[in-house]
Amino acid sequence: MVLDASIGEPWNRTGPRVVHDGFEIDPAEPSPTVEPACPVCGGTLPIALVKLLRSGSAAAWPEPDAVVTTFGLRSKRFGDSLVITDPIGLEASLLSLSCGSCTTEFVACLGYGEWQPARYLATYLGLVAIT
Ligand SMILES: [Zn+2]
Repeated sequence: MVLDASIGEPWNRTGPRVVHDGFEIDPAEPSPTVEPACPVCGGTLPIALVKLLRSGSAAAWPEPDAVVTTFGLRSKRFGDSLVITDPIGLEASLLSLSCGSCTTEFVACLGYGEWQPARYLATYLGLVAIT
C-alpha cells in the first residue's frame, strides 16, 4: 500500500484543522464526524472520530517516513520506538476508508490526544489515495 499524494488533500502549511475540542471522545456517545469530500468523485467521506480510539498509529505504517512527509507530521525516535505526532504534538493516527460512490481507497490522517487536563483535541490532516 503506497500513499498517493497526487490524489487527495496533501497537508497545507496553515496547520492542522481542529475537528474536536472538548471532553475525551466517548464510544458510548454519538461520535463527532469530519466529512471531507472525495477528491475523485466529490462524494462525502464521513469519518467518525470515535474510530480514532482504535485506529492504527501512524508510526505503525510500513513506511513511516512517507506518512510524515505526506501529512506534514513530526517524528521522534525513543530507543526502539517511533512516535509520530501532528505539528501541535498530538499522536497521529491513520484511518482506512473507501468512497461509497467510486470505491477509491483512502487513508485519512488525524491527530488526537489530551491537550490540557481533561481537554481533548482532534485534528484532521487530510487524506490521500492508496495504491
Ligand atoms: Zn469517490
